[in-house]
Amino acid sequence: MLTNVEHIGIAVKDITASNELFSKLLNVAPYKSEQVESEGVTTSFFKVNATKIELLEATSPDSAIARFIEKKGEGIHHIAFEVEDIYAEMKRLESEGFILLNTEPKIGADNKLVCFLHPKSSNGVLVELCQERKI
Ligand code: ZN
Repeated sequence: MLTNVEHIGIAVKDITASNELFSKLLNVAPYKSEQVESEGVTTSFFKVNATKIELLEATSPDSAIARFIEKKGEGIHHIAFEVEDIYAEMKRLESEGFILLNTEPKIGADNKLVCFLHPKSSNGVLVELCQERKI
């Protein structure tokens, strides 16, 4: 079951500059910054009440974020939904015809298990499923 929007991911060229910009915009400093090797990104997270914003900067020219910015420029990259059981949700969505970008959940930023859906199966929106890791 999907519960709520966990965060919104925004692709940025320069995370240092964007951290300053979003600190001004949201009037709060990022609460965490993290490098996710598997995705080739540096992330930072902001929290306003229950809403989280994730900024993503590519760490290499062949990362998905670098390719996204090259094609579309900076901007909203994905919407992440919190799920209670990522395996069950992946199975359900696959059976509904959505294309999963990974067959097993991956370890994402912010201590989450994540799976992405191909935007071509969801009206051009890259959807991330994420589940808190219980460790
Ligand atoms: Zn995300």
